[in-house]
Amino acid sequence: MPKKARQRSCKLLRGTIYRETRTGVSELIQTDSQVIRVWPTADQMLPGAALEALPNQAKRKVLRAFEQEKKRAYKCLRWARWMTHTGQLDVRCIHCLKKAWSYSAVKQRDPKTGRYRVDKGKRRWECVNKVERSVAGKVTDSSPQSPKQKVCGKKFCDTAGSPFANARVPIGLVLAVLYYPTGTIERLLEAEGRQNQVLAIQEIVKELAQRRHKALHSRLQRYARLFCGEALFARCIELTDPFGGLALVEANARQESVRVDMKLASYKLYWGVLQPNYQAVRIALGQIKRLDRSLVHGAPLDRGYRRKLVNELQCAVRALMAPPIER
Ligand SMILES: [Zn+2]
Repeated sequence: MPKKARQRSCKLLRGTIYRETRTGVSELIQTDSQVIRVWPTADQMLPGAALEALPNQAKRKVLRAFEQEKKRAYKCLRWARWMTHTGQLDVRCIHCLKKAWSYSAVKQRDPKTGRYRVDKGKRRWECVNKVERSVAGKVTDSSPQSPKQKVCGKKFCDTAGSPFANARVPIGLVLAVLYYPTGTIERLLEAEGRQNQVLAIQEIVKELAQRRHKALHSRLQRYARLFCGEALFARCIELTDPFGGLALVEANARQESVRVDMKLASYKLYWGVLQPNYQAVRIALGQIKRLDRSLVHGAPLDRGYRRKLVNELQCAVRALMAPPIER
C-alpha cells in the first residue's frame, strides 16, 4: 500500500476504530467531539424498541455485552473525566489537582473467597512528581511539568470523587442507560428480576443529574455512544445489521480520518512557516550580540544600527507569537 494511503487508512477491530500511522496503530476516536461525529445514536445502531422486541436470549446477550466490557467502560469514564479537546489524557489528582503521571491495576477482594482479583481496566493513579517517576524509569508521558511542583503523593482510582465511587453495578450498564434514555435497559433488567441493579443505576443517574456533575454528565452521554457502539460491535454485531450502523460508522470514521489528516497537514504547513521565523530570531539575536561584544573591544556604538537590529528581532518574535492555523 502506498505510504500516503497507509497513513490515511482506518479500520474497525473488535469495535474500536484504529488508524494506521507511520509509527504504528493508534485509536482514531478519542475526544468527545470526535465521538459525536463518528458514533451514531441508539436509533441508528439498535433502537430501544427493536432491542425490547428481541428474543430473551438476544436481550441477555446485549446486557452481557454492556456488563462485561469493563475495560471499555472504564476507558470511557476516564476519557469523560480527563480527556482534553486535543486528545491528550490529562488526569488530575482529586486531592491537589496536580497532574497524575503514574498508575497501576486495581485489585478487589472477593468477599466470598477472600481472594484478590484484578478489576479489569480500572486504574489506580498515584500523585507523584514526574522526576520521581523518571528515577523509576517508568515515565511514558512527555508533557511538560515543572519538576519543582509539589504533589501530595496520594492515590485515587478512576471512579474516586465521581458518582461511580461506590457503584454496586457495572459502569457499562450505567452508560447503556445513558445511551437508551427512555428506560429500555431498566425494563430489560427488571424482566430478569434484577431490581437491585435498577435501583443502583437510578441512584447514580440521579447523582449525575446534579448541577455539580453537569459537565461530567454531558460528556458521559457522549462517550456512552462510543462505549455502547464498541460493545455492540465487539459482541453482537449481527443485531445491528438491519439498522446499517456499521456502514454509517465506517463512513463517518473515514471522514474523520480525512479531517485528522487535514489538520496534520495544516500543522505541517504552519511548521514550514515557523522555521524561517526561528531563523530570523536567531540571526537578529546573533547580530545584536556581536555588536554589543564589539563595544567591549573598543568599537564605536552605532545606536541607529542597533535600533534597526532590535526592531528586526521584535518583528521576528511577533511573527512567532501568531496563533497556530486551526481548521
Ligand atoms: Zn495530589
